[in-house]
Amino acid sequence: MLDLTFTEPKPKTIAGATGDWELVIGLEVHAQVASNAKLFSGASTTFGAEPNSNVSFVDAAMPGMLPVINEYCVEQAVRTGLGLKADINLFSAFDRKNYFYPDLPQGYQISQLYHPIVGEGEVLVEMEPGVARIVRVERIHLEQDAGKSVHDMDPNMSFVDLNRTGVALMEIVSRPDIRGPEEAAAYVTKIRQILRYLGTCDGNMQNGNLRADVNVSVCRPGDYEKYQATQDFDHLGTRCEIKNMNSMRFMQAAIEHEARRQIAILEDGGSVDQETRLYDPDKNETRSMRSKEEAQDYRYFPCPDLLPLEIEQAWVDEIAAGLPELPDAKKARFVADYGMTDYDAGVLTADVTDAAFFEDVAKGRNGKLAANWVINDLFGRLKKAELSISDSPISAEQLGGILDLMASDAISGKIAKELFEIVWTEGGDPAKIVEERGMKQVTDTGAIEAALDKIIADNPAQVEKAKANPKLAGWFVGQVMKATGGKANPKAVNQLVGKKLGGA
Ligand code: ADP
Ligand code: MG
Repeated sequence: MLDLTFTEPKPKTIAGATGDWELVIGLEVHAQVASNAKLFSGASTTFGAEPNSNVSFVDAAMPGMLPVINEYCVEQAVRTGLGLKADINLFSAFDRKNYFYPDLPQGYQISQLYHPIVGEGEVLVEMEPGVARIVRVERIHLEQDAGKSVHDMDPNMSFVDLNRTGVALMEIVSRPDIRGPEEAAAYVTKIRQILRYLGTCDGNMQNGNLRADVNVSVCRPGDYEKYQATQDFDHLGTRCEIKNMNSMRFMQAAIEHEARRQIAILEDGGSVDQETRLYDPDKNETRSMRSKEEAQDYRYFPCPDLLPLEIEQAWVDEIAAGLPELPDAKKARFVADYGMTDYDAGVLTADVTDAAFFEDVAKGRNGKLAANWVINDLFGRLKKAELSISDSPISAEQLGGILDLMASDAISGKIAKELFEIVWTEGGDPAKIVEERGMKQVTDTGAIEAALDKIIADNPAQVEKAKANPKLAGWFVGQVMKATGGKANPKAVNQLVGKKLGGA
């Protein structure tokens, strides 16, 4: 099991003209449910489809159309809640959040304000080995996504694409427990990792399938501790919310910028207005979108088209029993089972597909060696080629085959690297390649001895030097390797060189 002894990372402080400031951050992560159909209609959710081709009458809000809840989406929200160690609410209900916007044909969004499907949970955010923070999750609710307005296709007109309208989102709301830009990124990374392990969201931030609204405030050292003790928000500063961040890098820059903007206002004797802001990455600044005063009254009320959602504990238990091994547990197991470092286990478990690939390679083999090859050789090579593991030209079976050839002493580590390159570019069965191209290691001591004897005979001066200084014997090892095209078994060569030149 995971060792939960850790120390909390220090909050980020920013030195102002009037003293130090600390950051307080709470995140609302919107994660698109990995479902083929939308939350209340059977329309497809395929990304990149022809505009307005994935729109049912329900999504287009045709008169008289009724939403029908998609059970699969509900199940994914429950799975997500269980993965975040959260309480599952057997009773939840949908509300209408009313507002007008061209990309919202219904005139309201169906969401869960008063009775979300998932209650309090937590996420362990590890900043470095042994240094971690627990970020509390306040709730997760299910809601519909809106469509997309397209303003850049025509100088005089705007268009709307409703493909996204009605797609299921999980909104994961954290408590304001995040204390700096790096932690915010680590938190989103961890959420994304867990969702991908669970298979409930593909985590594709570029496509907007995972995005975050970031709430930022600043306070004086000591104030956050008062908030923690009382849970009274009055001890915290007024927050601003930065909308729709779908890049880790921009999110961190936006937080840093926003905190400095607030500090400047406060140090100038002003006060921060609670407002929604947008980050502009080109200018590295946030701009006001709307203030709390202008905030719309959404006239929330229970959606009359949908019955409250009542689920059974037995169903929740069934989903819980089917949960996969999650990142923290997998990482701890990799350390325990394969004897690898915490760091390596972190690298190998960062993504669920990487971890599965590694386990396929390591199965029945030396785990530490497998870890080295997967991390250094395979990941290194993939990175150079800008490929992801699912596009790897080398399969787990092929890489395992290379390791087997090393384990049986058929090839040396050096030849294995060459073999790796061959399999990478040409494909094929590693064992066959070694056989066909005569890459087998020479373990026949007779052949090695003959090569060594010739080198000794040809280099009397070197022999004298090596006898006086055993450290120079390495030169002979190198020469034998060269003479045998790198195929001599290094262990056998070392032994023979030692026997013939050593002990002097
Ligand atoms: P709203 O209904 O206005 O969106 P919520 O209670 O849902 O307000 O809070 C939204 C987010 O703001 C949550 O993630 C919460 O943790 C965060 N938050 C609340 N207070 C602060 C604060 N003082 N500083 C930073 N984040 C905060
Ligand atoms: Mg909110």
